[in-house]
Amino acid sequence: MTVENLMDKLVSHCKANGFMFQSSEIYGGLNGFWDYGPLGVELKRNIKDAWWKDMYQSHNELACPPSAPSTYDMVGLDCTIIMHPQVWKCSGHYDLFHDFMVDCRKTKKRYRFDQLRGRWVSQGPQRIFVTTMAEPEQEQEDIARRALKFFNLRSKDIERLTFEERVLTLDKLDEADRAKVLGPDTDEIGSLTDPREFNLMFKTYVGALSGEEGAAFLRPETAQGIFVNFKNVVDSTRIRVPFGVAQVGKSFRNEITPRNFTFRSREFEQMEIEFFCHPSQSANWYQYWRNRRLQWYKDLGLDSDRLRLREHEQDELSHYSCGTADIEYAFPFLPPGEYGELEGIAHRGDFDLRSHSEGKLDPKKRPLEVELDEQGSPKHRGSGKDLTYRDDLTNERFIPHVIEPSAGADRATLAFLCQAYTEIQSSESNGKFESRVVMRLHPRIAPYKAAVLPLVKKDGMPEIAAEIYGALKKKFNVFYDEKSAIGKRYWRQDKIGTPYCITVDSQTLVDRTVTIRERDSMEQWRIGIDQVVAEIEKRVC
Ligand code: ATP
Repeated sequence: MTVENLMDKLVSHCKANGFMFQSSEIYGGLNGFWDYGPLGVELKRNIKDAWWKDMYQSHNELACPPSAPSTYDMVGLDCTIIMHPQVWKCSGHYDLFHDFMVDCRKTKKRYRFDQLRGRWVSQGPQRIFVTTMAEPEQEQEDIARRALKFFNLRSKDIERLTFEERVLTLDKLDEADRAKVLGPDTDEIGSLTDPREFNLMFKTYVGALSGEEGAAFLRPETAQGIFVNFKNVVDSTRIRVPFGVAQVGKSFRNEITPRNFTFRSREFEQMEIEFFCHPSQSANWYQYWRNRRLQWYKDLGLDSDRLRLREHEQDELSHYSCGTADIEYAFPFLPPGEYGELEGIAHRGDFDLRSHSEGKLDPKKRPLEVELDEQGSPKHRGSGKDLTYRDDLTNERFIPHVIEPSAGADRATLAFLCQAYTEIQSSESNGKFESRVVMRLHPRIAPYKAAVLPLVKKDGMPEIAAEIYGALKKKFNVFYDEKSAIGKRYWRQDKIGTPYCITVDSQTLVDRTVTIRERDSMEQWRIGIDQVVAEIEKRVC
């Protein structure tokens, strides 16, 4: 199966079975926005619940993973999407959260400078850089077709063209070479503008003020809500460093080129932890969170061979970071050997708390050093609030360092879907082979945990099945199906990722036992009806 094929199939499988729909589809859709259907909403909720349970609920100062440098506590928060605009000034998003884009003067289309790919092609002395927006599989074909057209040649003249080996992104070209670029949707070279900064935050206006006084932004990350509540959390819970604050919620980025299904969306959900620790311990906690987060994806079924942890190069680090590692997954829409980010784990030092506390302070009360510009004014206006932490045992006062594991719920969902999608050959009763889809989702995140199936619609079987269904339904999302042949019903559940099918058959009428069938191994075994709930619970929690 080619990569393109696999993604096309996954996208149509997701639509046909109610995992994902394009937003506002009946109006032609809106690029970069996706809706989760009846199955998708369960899948994504299960992923967020697993994260919340594993990262937040299962920790306190008494119970922590043995690999942790020390015990620690976790609490949760749920902050607003629109915050005081000064938050984004102090976080750096207002000044620095931008991508570079280029516009095509001919088509008015816009592309990301660091993502537009192409190859050098020459005919005789003329050398041009042909860019393409085609999927990796079709890149070369698209470049060749457009180069032929540009040089006014026919397909049979392809030998007259020389294609340089390397695929480059536009940002890797020298400035002087930009005039030789053939934009992805034009026939003329030199139609792309120089790169320009484009802030990714969505702007809105609060209240009746329509001018700049009312301007505000939709949050591009959930993290800042945690930083600005640091003092509230410490004061209201009496929690002690080291501790983490977890938050799950929507974020918005006006991405220039949303693409690859939900991978790069304009509205998405993040699952973030801001972990506050003593500066002397921050390197250890950074290591801990990198490993712990990587293991989480493996435990929920992502294949180790398709996952990697990549430490950022110095020049890749964000303005606040003294170290960042990305957890990356080999998404099938990427060329072989390339990986896409699932989650970033950043060592943010004391950047955020320091930044939010700097500003218009009474110097007597000010415990923090304020960076001043040439005029002697604070570099930017923070809240002026004291966001230091005082250890009540040692009496030491310090600004905690922060380790931030920041995951995307939608990217995680997409990775689990890509990993789960499996085509297997099945034998039809007439001897013909055809393939069918099994979604091998980990039981913890599968939309339905089990399906209850009476073998036939008579002899009291539906009544017993309804009794089992009722008992399971109190605890899990379960499915009931009594239509069509049992084999077809198993396949229907395989296709949506249900890990267990429970069948009520004639033997049930004799001894009150049922068959349990496991999705991936197709193994079957019998247990008593009164054990069903415990058996499913043991396997899916
Ligand atoms: P990228 O380099 O892919 O744009 P990023 O480094 O800007 O991502 P972060 O700011 O570290 O991403 O955000 C943390 C996580 O939020 C990412 O690892 C990803 O899972 C998710 N995320 C970020 N941007 C998007 C988006 N546009 N669509 C879906 N998820 C996103």
